[in-house]
Parts: sequence; structure tokens; C-alpha cells
Amino acid sequence: MTTHLVWFRNDLRINDNLALSAACRDPDARVVGLFIASPEQWRQHDMSPRQAEFIWQHVQSLSHALAQRGIELRVHQVGDFNDCAEYLKNFCEAQHVDALFYNYQYELNERQRDAAVEKALGRDVVCQGFDDSVLLPPGSVTTGNNEMYKVFTPFSKAFIKRLHEGLPECVLAPLPRGDELSVTSAESFDYPRADVDPMLFPIGERAAIAKLREFCQHPAAAYPGQRDFPAIDGTSRLSAYLAIGVLSPRQCLHRLLKEHPQALEGGSGSVWLNELIWREFYRHLLVAYPKLCRHQPFISWTDNVAWRQDNAQFVAWQKGNTGFPIVDAAMRQMNATGWMHNRLRMVVASFLVKDLLCDWRQGERYFMSQLIDGDLAANNGGWQWAASTGTDAAPYFRIFNPTTQGERFDKQGEFIRQWLPELGDVPDKYIHTPWVWAEKQQLTLDYPQPIVDHKQARIATLAAYEVARKS
Ligand code: FAD
Repeated sequence: MTTHLVWFRNDLRINDNLALSAACRDPDARVVGLFIASPEQWRQHDMSPRQAEFIWQHVQSLSHALAQRGIELRVHQVGDFNDCAEYLKNFCEAQHVDALFYNYQYELNERQRDAAVEKALGRDVVCQGFDDSVLLPPGSVTTGNNEMYKVFTPFSKAFIKRLHEGLPECVLAPLPRGDELSVTSAESFDYPRADVDPMLFPIGERAAIAKLREFCQHPAAAYPGQRDFPAIDGTSRLSAYLAIGVLSPRQCLHRLLKEHPQALEGGSGSVWLNELIWREFYRHLLVAYPKLCRHQPFISWTDNVAWRQDNAQFVAWQKGNTGFPIVDAAMRQMNATGWMHNRLRMVVASFLVKDLLCDWRQGERYFMSQLIDGDLAANNGGWQWAASTGTDAAPYFRIFNPTTQGERFDKQGEFIRQWLPELGDVPDKYIHTPWVWAEKQQLTLDYPQPIVDHKQARIATLAAYEVARKS
């Protein structure tokens, strides 16, 4: 009997899992699953304790789903990625594995790890990788010169054209391959874990699919008008599931098209589709420009910006104590739940880089250490966009004003009051400038004064970028 090994990584699901489906195609093969935790590597990648918990819970859930189909999931822990090759070699020898199936990860360390594994397994084990976490494989959407697009809009147009030529199909969950197995609870990973709010992020593939259905049936239609307002629950909040592969982008696309058949033609649903394509854009960029994985800026001259090293200001930003209510409410939302609204990610990133002139890489790392949906491609893309160092980024002279951003996107301060109860008594009119109200009332608020003067900070930042550009 042949033995097929499925190495699960960021694809913790049984539905529409290309590697799992391919491994199960031969009805006579014995199929074994494996998940390898690598805490040392997670530390180096700043993975958040919330994401670690989310992974842990989903490994348990996957283990049960596979066991119902007669497939065992082994869970093992190594130090860092360097230990994977030896472990897999020994595992394959001991289990008489003939073929290894896995879904690609596109980050540099992960690709190096996979190359080392394939080399170690040599000819003894046939290895098959799949482009599972994307709608279209990196490198397949290119300009006429066969190059990766550097600007999103033409990428998106070419991407949609490719989708018109043929949609990537979803594959079914494997059929049961034998009697249901019993599951023994795996040992916990040697990594800090933090609670995940089950109301915000219910555990399991079924819950994720239900969330996707619910979003596509209702909020997706109103998404264009609601997605920028953090007080409204107007976005899908599926990023945490997509980041660790509890859902696939193909499932998202097909569910969207079922409810909004005109999404590919620019009709209802197309704005949400565009966000899925942003996700693809950043993944394709990682492969085309591996330097992005090394935290280098896409635009080289921006590395000459003389960043300010003010630890007190950085800590104030981290903790949500900058004195700018929209920034602080957003940071406290992320610190408390592991998730932050997209509009606010842009606002707080801009504030850190353009108001505090702090190196964007510090913010990028801090985000990874807190986010439940931490994803190198999207996070790096978002930070480089905000810092004006990336492809198709905001131009460096475009600097968000944190006060007017608050006024535009949280007019009555509904979101702010949710996260900053100390501003509960501040009238709507002053919710974005509580220091003005406090001065008028001759009150001392239990809330900090703004840590910078936005106008002056803007001038200093423009000057710093100008100097770097000319150098
Ligand atoms: P929706 O609005 O419902 O969008 C659907 C899906 O599309 C998301 O789940 C996500 O997978 C994808 N998506 C949406 N917007 C973007 C985008 N701008 N770039 C890439 N993919 C996108 N997203 C992450 O998944 N992980 C991160 O670590 C991350 N870090 C970010 C850091 C910064 C500074 C910025 C500006 C953005 C970041 N994003 C990140 C992108 C975006 O903010 C989140 O994907 C989104 O807020 C998740 O909420 P949602 O699932 O409700 O999104």
C-alpha cells in the first residue's frame, strides 16, 4: 500500500484544500496528516499569542474533522524551520511515506524551508506543492513584458480578465477513508497564547464558512458604503481565517459570485472582490520581490529617511495613549481583540510614520505581535503603503490628519467611545479634540494631551523625506 503524507501549514481545513484533495485521490493510498509547530520561528516572525491560540484551536478542530474521515493528524513541535527537513526525513522513513503533498507558502523563510525538505527527501519521496492560498498563482498575472505589475489597478484589471478566462475551482473535502478514528488531545505548543473572543472569531471551518455565507448574503451588498466606518460591522472579518487557511480565497470568490453574479463585471460585490485582489497583489509581490520578506523598502531611497528614535512616543502609540482619540481607540481595539478595522490600520500606520517619524518596520513588527490575522504579505504591503515606501504606495507628501480622519469616519465618536470610556462625557463636537473641550471647561481629563502637534510634525516629515529623496 502506498502512503501519502499531507503536511498542513497555513491551510488548516478539509474543504477546498488542494494538497489534501490530491493526496486522497488514490482511494487505496493510506493518508496521514502532519502539522509541525515551530515556535522558535514564530518568535522570529513576531507571531501574536492570539494567532498562536487561533492556530492551536484550529489544529484541534482539523484533527477531529480528519479523524471523522479516517485520517490521522500527527502534531509535532520543532525549534525553527531548520529542524523541519531532518524531522520530515525521519518521519517519512518511519512511516514509509511514498509521496508528500503540501500547499505552498510564499514567504522567503518558508520557501527556503520547503526547498531544504525536498532536498532532504531526495528521490525517496515524491513531493507535490500546490498554489492553494491564492486565486491565481504568483507569476501568472504579468505585464506584456512578463513582469510583475507594480501598480494595483492594472494588476486588478489583468487579474479579472484571467478570472473571466476560467475560474479556479473549489475541490471537495475528502470522502471518509475508513472508520472514524479517536483523537487524543495534542500537547500544547511551547508558545504564549492569548484568549480569542469566540463571538468575534468562532472556532472551526464550519463557523468560518457560515460567516462567509452570512457576509455574502447581506453585508457584501452594502460594503462599498459601510466599509470605511469602524463603528459599523460592515466588513467580513474573515482575515483571521484566510491568514491561517481555515478558508480559501476560492471559497470566498465562489460564495461571492453565488450571491452577486455580477461581481466580476463591476456590479454588486465587486468592491469586496477588489479587496481579495489586493490580498493577491501583495502575495504575488512577495514572490516577485523577495527583498520585501527581508523588510526592505520597495523604493530604495526611502531607506535614507532619518527616522526618529523616540521610545516614549512609540510606547504611547502602542498603548493607545497618543492623545488623538481615533488613533488610540484603534490601537486599543487591536490590543484587546487582535483585529483592527482597515481604515484605522491606515490611520494609525500613517500616524506612527508620518506624525512620529518612526521607522515603519517598528510598526510592522508591533502589528504582527498583536494581530490575529497577521500575514507577512498583507501587513508588509499595508505598512509600506502607509509609509510611502512600497509599490503603488501613497505618495510621501500625502499625510493623513488624524483629527480629520476621525471626523470623517467616526463623526459622532461612536467607535471612539467604545474603546476610550474616559471620553464618555466629552460632547460629540469635541470628541476628536478633547483637549480643546477640557481647556474650555477648565477640566483635567483622564486622557493624555496630544503627543505631537500635527502641523509641525507634517512639516518635519516632509522635510525628512525630501532630504532622503535627494540624497
Ligand atoms: P474585508 O474588508 O472583509 O476584506 C476581505 C478580505 O480581503 C480580508 O479578509 C483580507 O484577506 C483581504 N484584504 C482586505 N483588504 C486588504 C488589503 N488592504 N491588503 C491585503 N488584503 C486585504 N490584512 C491581513 O490579513 N493581515 C495583516 O497582517 C494586515 N496588516 C495590515 C497592516 C496595515 C498597515 C494595513 C493598512 C492593512 C493591513 N491588512 C492586513 C489589510 C486589511 O486591513 C485587513 O485585511 C482587513 O482589515 C481585514 O478585515 P476584514 O476581513 O473584515 O476585511
